[in-house]
Amino acid sequence: MGTYNIALVKGDGIGPEIVDSAVEILNAIGKKFGHTFNFTPYLAGGAAIDATGKPLPQETVDGCLASDSVLLGAVGGPKWDTLPADIRPEKALLGLRKAMGLYTNLRPSRLYPALKAECPLRPDLVENGYDLLIVRELTGGIYFGDRGRREGQYGPEAWDTEAYSVMEIERIARAAFDAARKRRKSVISIDKANVLETSRLWREVVHRIAEEEYPDVECSDMLVDNAAMQLVKNPGQFDVILTSNMFGDILSDEASQISGSIGLLSSASLGATPRGMYEPAHGSAPDIAGQNLANPIATVLSAAMMLRYSFDLGAEANCIEAAVDDVLNAGIRTADIVGASGATPIGCTEMTAELLKRI
Ligand code: NAD
Repeated sequence: MGTYNIALVKGDGIGPEIVDSAVEILNAIGKKFGHTFNFTPYLAGGAAIDATGKPLPQETVDGCLASDSVLLGAVGGPKWDTLPADIRPEKALLGLRKAMGLYTNLRPSRLYPALKAECPLRPDLVENGYDLLIVRELTGGIYFGDRGRREGQYGPEAWDTEAYSVMEIERIARAAFDAARKRRKSVISIDKANVLETSRLWREVVHRIAEEEYPDVECSDMLVDNAAMQLVKNPGQFDVILTSNMFGDILSDEASQISGSIGLLSSASLGATPRGMYEPAHGSAPDIAGQNLANPIATVLSAAMMLRYSFDLGAEANCIEAAVDDVLNAGIRTADIVGASGATPIGCTEMTAELLKRI
């Protein structure tokens, strides 16, 4: 019977439609389980540029930091594509991640039995489906290391550096093991320890944390090149994948593609406190914005992740996920997931109503 204050950052394009849908679902969950969800809207992205000249107004940062968690739609669109880099809508996402200290990115990918036909993998490879979670380090590694241009052995060259501290590896490893405890208790840590020193340290630290703090969770390693192959060969072997910023960036896109339903994929960014930022894996889809064509499921599932990971409301999260399964099993589809099913597509508001019926 809790009260939770949620900052809503609807953003641009289909952002407002899909976030409104998730709010309706959360309100229904509140009613069913006796919780109160308070929502406060904040501007970010193109909408904020139009209203204030800045992609991430200070009021938004302060509001998100004061909230229990943040639900975000998506930012960006052609209207703002020609602005200089420092005032582009995407700046808002990086700015929020930084201000909120969000160093863990969680990206689930699963094969919905009802959408098996959309999976690009051979049917025999995914006969038993798969359900995995990528835990990606989000604020360290080569994307944040020193870089530059210089004169090298063969003339002008560019360089980037990867650095990971023990502290950064420890905290992302704990995030992965904690997540695994809420799932099937297995972590595969992915690195390139045959070549990279950062990966060798990564491996050492991950195993120490596993042995000292998580003896109940199975832990093993895989080289990233092998992991890229295994994801398309036997995705069912993975429960939680723990990996660095760059490897996670690449593998999470591979994992979302093999699900065949990128419009259904949610994501969470977490830090040292329970407060997180939850958003769909897709963008603002300006081509369909304002036409009641958007699929709200990725955002609704992101709200479910918020319940599970920020508020520790597992039963409530399960209830939302079961409603999504049920809608898909009933053959109810928005246009993006009609595929070869032959179903007549419904809109965002109708999909929301179908989900509400099942909560
Ligand atoms: P996109 O994910 O917005 O759209 C790709 C395609 O998928 C489009 O055809 C779109 O209509 C469709 N699509 C996406 N989400 C959908 C949904 N929920 N329901 C139905 N169809 C959906 O990617 P894009 O076209 O490359 O980018 C559009 C804008 O979004 C750009 O400005 C980009 O910078 C921005 N973007 C934002 C984020 C974010 O806010 N996290 C992420 C990616 C892209």
